[in-house]
Amino acid sequence: MTGCDIAIIGAGPYGISASAHLRTIKGLDVHTFGEPMDFWQRNMPKGMLLRSGWEASHIADPNQSLTLDIFRKQSGNHFSSPVPLDRFVNYGLWHQQHSVPDLDQRKIVCVEPGTRGFRLILADGESVLANRVVIAAGISSFTWRPPEFDNLPSSLATHTSEHIDFERFAGKEVLVVGGGQSALESAALLHEAGASVEIIARARQIRWLGGVVSRTIHRGFGPSISKLLYAPTDVGPAGISQIVARPDLVRRFSRPIQDWLRKRSIRPAGARWLVERLKDVPMHLGRSAVSATSKGASVKVRLDDGSERDFDHVFLGTGYRVDVSKYNFLAPKLAGSISRHQGYPRLTEGFETSFPGLHILGAPAVWSFGPLMQFVVGTHYSSCALMQFVARKAAGNRARVGEPLVAGLELSRPHD
Ligand SMILES: Cc1cc2nc3c(=O)[nH]c(=O)nc-3n(C[C@H](O)[C@H](O)[C@H](O)COP(=O)(O)OP(=O)(O)OC[C@H]3O[C@@H](n4cnc5c(N)ncnc54)[C@H](O)[C@@H]3O)c2cc1C
Repeated sequence: MTGCDIAIIGAGPYGISASAHLRTIKGLDVHTFGEPMDFWQRNMPKGMLLRSGWEASHIADPNQSLTLDIFRKQSGNHFSSPVPLDRFVNYGLWHQQHSVPDLDQRKIVCVEPGTRGFRLILADGESVLANRVVIAAGISSFTWRPPEFDNLPSSLATHTSEHIDFERFAGKEVLVVGGGQSALESAALLHEAGASVEIIARARQIRWLGGVVSRTIHRGFGPSISKLLYAPTDVGPAGISQIVARPDLVRRFSRPIQDWLRKRSIRPAGARWLVERLKDVPMHLGRSAVSATSKGASVKVRLDDGSERDFDHVFLGTGYRVDVSKYNFLAPKLAGSISRHQGYPRLTEGFETSFPGLHILGAPAVWSFGPLMQFVVGTHYSSCALMQFVARKAAGNRARVGEPLVAGLELSRPHD
């Protein structure tokens, strides 16, 4: 049984970045677990382009020495925005190799409260004790499938996150359900792979990012007004973008306003560069499926206008619904003691849950810190906030046991 001060579960953008920051606290023993950039390699389609812009796709590191720009220069790769998925994966792996070279790729199968801190059990049976645990385990546990499709076998209906390539759908009739980026991009890639694709979405209209409003502002008022209304974080519409770029500010608003800001900022939408690629794909908008039944090797889908259609396969681009109790590595006692609102943990300063010493980063933090946390760009705020919180706690502990603070705690680089 080994021990550490902090165990981080997850080696995606949030886990890597948090680890890089916490390591700057001298004397702190940080242990990071997980397969690096796993979700991006196994649950996103080949050929995907990042929806977030260049400035919003850097994974935060404490010295700003591991940015996309530096990666591009050092790797000799020529790419720009929209960032191709394979380049972003390589960037994340490069970041991890520099920032968390001692990453432990083993899976955590259980986290339970210990007598002091937590006990983590690894897939190979080894145990690790940690004073604090930071969960940065992403959204793969939260895939959402509408109940109408529950009874279909995976040969007939799958979530978009289950596919990385689409060749096997060439010549097949495929229905894509959903009007957000995952659904629309999957539809474009399926169409380009030779499938005959149709889309159904509940929305009456597809919302395209970088649409009329932002282009009119840019053309009519120039780039400086555009910059005033849109933060480089690339999350949210004009004006709101600047508010949600500042999680400290978001937290000062009343709950109803925070909810409104969140809803306005992360509505289903498609990147503008998909418009042309989807021009030959029929879309049934303002429609939803009321039932889906298997019929031999195909699936019969009934829409709410009474029409029925047969498809070879249904792609559920229906997104994710956060519910931290679905992290299957959390011991039931621990999961049950996390205060939640509709599945989201109520987080306080330093992203700490109501269970002292347990922190959660990434999309589950959206309810407490705003929509930025659903995207890579949120690492800049969350990693600093976590680091400052832990540094203060460490300083407090050392002061209590009489250790001199100067020797005990120094940040390698001061943070404002
Ligand atoms: C199709 C799609 C496109 C997207 N495009 C963008 C985009 O363009 N820009 C953007 O900013 N965001 C985008 N996102 C959102 C993106 O998923 C998040 O920004 C990002 O992945 C969050 O990083 P994370 O570290 O929280 O989670 P992840 O990247 O999912 O990382 C989770 C990590 O946890 C590890 N893990 C999980 N469970 C365990 C365990 N039990 N033990 C050990 N390790 C574990 C995993 O192996 C992985 O390393 C997109 C999402 C989807 C689905």
